[in-house]
Amino acid sequence: MGGSPIMVQSPYERGDGERTLRYIGSSSNTREYAVDTEFAEVAGHDVTTITCLCGNTVSNEGLIQANSEGIPIHAGDPPVPAGLAAWPEDEDLYTLCPSCGRVYRDSIIEETGTAPVAFKVDVAAGPIAEAIRLHWELSS
Ligand SMILES: [Zn+2]
Repeated sequence: MGGSPIMVQSPYERGDGERTLRYIGSSSNTREYAVDTEFAEVAGHDVTTITCLCGNTVSNEGLIQANSEGIPIHAGDPPVPAGLAAWPEDEDLYTLCPSCGRVYRDSIIEETGTAPVAFKVDVAAGPIAEAIRLHWELSS
């Protein structure tokens, strides 16, 4: 149940290998990341008040609603543009920092008032990077 392994290993890994490898590990299991979970600052159980560990905020680079894979969600009218995720039917929302790729789980923040990093995605290249570009394009 819960967090599935994050599949960010890809040909894109080369440029950003260190950061990615930290979470994937080549031989260790994926639960390792839970041992030294990082926490972002957040106020009032409110995902919009996250200050990401990289320093990013809603009013800085912005934060993006994402699904459980870290893919930005299309929050506007249907149809969902290719490359973006549909609104999750189970309402299980995540908040993606487009600056560093850390992803936070909204329900945890709302319940606990803390913002542990759920997982990280590659925002430098690949499908999520494309989706982030698309997200800003559509919302500008
Ligand atoms: Zn960040």
